Amino acid sequence: MNALEINNLYKVYGNGNVALQDVSLLVPEGSFFALLGPNGAGKSTLINILADTVNASSGSVSLLGHDLFHERAWCKRRMGVVPQEIAFDPFFSPREVLKFSRGMYGQKADDAWVDELLERLELTQHAHKITRQLSGGMRRRLLVAQALVHRPKLVILDEPTAGVDVELRKRLWDFMRELNAAGTTILLTTHYLEEAEELCDQVAIIDQGKLITSRPMKELIREVASSSLCLRYAEPLQLSDEDKSILSAFSPRVYDNQLCLTLNKQDSRSDFDTVYQAAKQRFGTPVDVSIRQEDLEDVFLRLTGDSS
Ligand code: ADP
Repeated sequence: MNALEINNLYKVYGNGNVALQDVSLLVPEGSFFALLGPNGAGKSTLINILADTVNASSGSVSLLGHDLFHERAWCKRRMGVVPQEIAFDPFFSPREVLKFSRGMYGQKADDAWVDELLERLELTQHAHKITRQLSGGMRRRLLVAQALVHRPKLVILDEPTAGVDVELRKRLWDFMRELNAAGTTILLTTHYLEEAEELCDQVAIIDQGKLITSRPMKELIREVASSSLCLRYAEPLQLSDEDKSILSAFSPRVYDNQLCLTLNKQDSRSDFDTVYQAAKQRFGTPVDVSIRQEDLEDVFLRLTGDSS
């Protein structure tokens, strides 16, 4: 069973911006799923369509086998979305926000669960303040609590840890891991690729509105990630257009004194020796050579060509 089945989804905004083009994606039930892409890729558009704050232009989505666009009420009760934008009634307290939200989902009060959420999201001490008095980080945590208050089957988090300090981020992820282990499907977008690699068992990358890849995280890292040969020189390097064109098969990257070249496993030309000789011919003998295994960040940059 899939938690989400997204089929041929398109979104064209009123001003003609094409944000999603024919995106089809399966999110397996019980997965911890990372949706990645550079700025402007269409991640928020996709999440906002799921959250019902943006209308799709065409395509279909089903949640646990139910049509999202035609069975909204059923789906909303089983989905918790943590949006990027923070909007609370400024005069409600966190506890009131949570109680009220349960009511909105038509569920009866569950004080024990509300208390646990306040505790886990480190809001207990602030539970009686009005939300206007909370810091940005506290409001962000309250958004997470609010998305969980009706015990959804699918939790969607749009950049949940932006501006949240490292320690708290770790505790937030520990909590998400527990929920995931108990059967909740989690879909998240994040800029912290290390975090995605560590947490998620599935990954999809979108770029310019199109799906580039969707597969198990381990498989992506194993199949797509390759090694880089890094050559360090005494002086900073600069690649001329000619250098770039000669080395283009190896995706050359320069970091000050260092030149890194990708060793592409599928391409016999780019074995260690060829790459080394090509670099040596252009720039002379390096002072140091190292091999680096690519991580998700490298793969992401290579697949999307994003250098920001
Ligand atoms: P991401 O979340 O990956 O950064 P977005 O979904 O925010 O990407 O944006 C995808 C594309 O849609 C971008 O080109 C963006 O400029 C455009 N876009 C987003 N929201 C709107 C909107 N309300 N009106 C018009 N264009 C939009």
